[in-house]
Amino acid sequence: MPRILIIYTGGTIGMIENPATHALQPFDFTHLIDNVPKIKKLDYEIDNIQFDPPIDSSNMNPGHWRDMARAIEEHYDGYDGFVVLHGTDTMAYTASALSFMLENLHKPVIITGSQLPIGEVRTDGEENLITALQVAAATDQDGSPMVQEVAILFDNSLWRGNRSTKMSADNFNAFHSYNYPPLATVGLGIEFRRTALYRTPSHRPLKVRYDMDPGVMFLELNPGMTAQTLHHLLHTPGIKGIVLKTYGAGNSPSERWFTDEIRQACDRGVVILNVTQCVDGGVRGTLYETGNSLTAAGAVSGHDITSEAAITKLMYLFGMGLDADKVKHYLNCALCGEVTL
Ligand code: ASP
Repeated sequence: MPRILIIYTGGTIGMIENPATHALQPFDFTHLIDNVPKIKKLDYEIDNIQFDPPIDSSNMNPGHWRDMARAIEEHYDGYDGFVVLHGTDTMAYTASALSFMLENLHKPVIITGSQLPIGEVRTDGEENLITALQVAAATDQDGSPMVQEVAILFDNSLWRGNRSTKMSADNFNAFHSYNYPPLATVGLGIEFRRTALYRTPSHRPLKVRYDMDPGVMFLELNPGMTAQTLHHLLHTPGIKGIVLKTYGAGNSPSERWFTDEIRQACDRGVVILNVTQCVDGGVRGTLYETGNSLTAAGAVSGHDITSEAAITKLMYLFGMGLDADKVKHYLNCALCGEVTL
């Protein structure tokens, strides 16, 4: 009988309406599970732990990632797989963060949630939770876990966590991975795409990296951005790494006011990671003059990495205490399937 641990962090899936304000707010796990009687039909041993209190995922921070990682580490040997119930708003950030923090992961960590609370008649939560449990319990012919990475199960697809993005605030089909195929599609059965599944090359035991450095931020370009704004942002106190969200294939203004500021920031030891504002495709630094100038100024290409994976990868690398050169080196390596090089 598969043994699965559910870690309930909060999110819409477990929310109920506050009678006074009519706003949705997180509620406890007993309420959630009571709304999924079908779960008893699964022949699994299921235990749970929950955040106290459960949170709306817009309040997520690295401390919560540490709590999830610690729960997984403490219970790693006792369970075949883990299902994390999480709000959708920052689910892709958590999935990315955990993929870096849980080094040498050999078991499934399946994150899911829903767009409608589990108590609603048309909820997508029941389906998502049941399927997430089945994915977490799935094994290969030799009995090893089918999924050995952090993944997001939503609607009818299983996505690599660090390749996922929330793409819809309204639809049940809320997540997508634009630069990587689904790990599985869910129809009458669950069809795993074996060639897409990640397998860590390491045979070492799970190693959790708890330190995520918050000294990072996004800087998104827009036409009309002034030299003063750019200067101000690049001089943000305590900033070590910046995910620069550029145009198209990684392009930015090639004028001196811009490239000089970027070069000076890089010279000060700030790591600037160039990612595209487009959801599909990636940075190709040599395609246009405007992309070349950014590379020449010292920015590193993010290739086809998502923004969520980019910012959490910087947190993770700086969290390990690496200097700027080492961080740049690892940004050019795929650590757990987050980027195509
Ligand atoms: N605000 C909610 C959350 O992220 C949205 C959701 O769960 O869908 O916790």
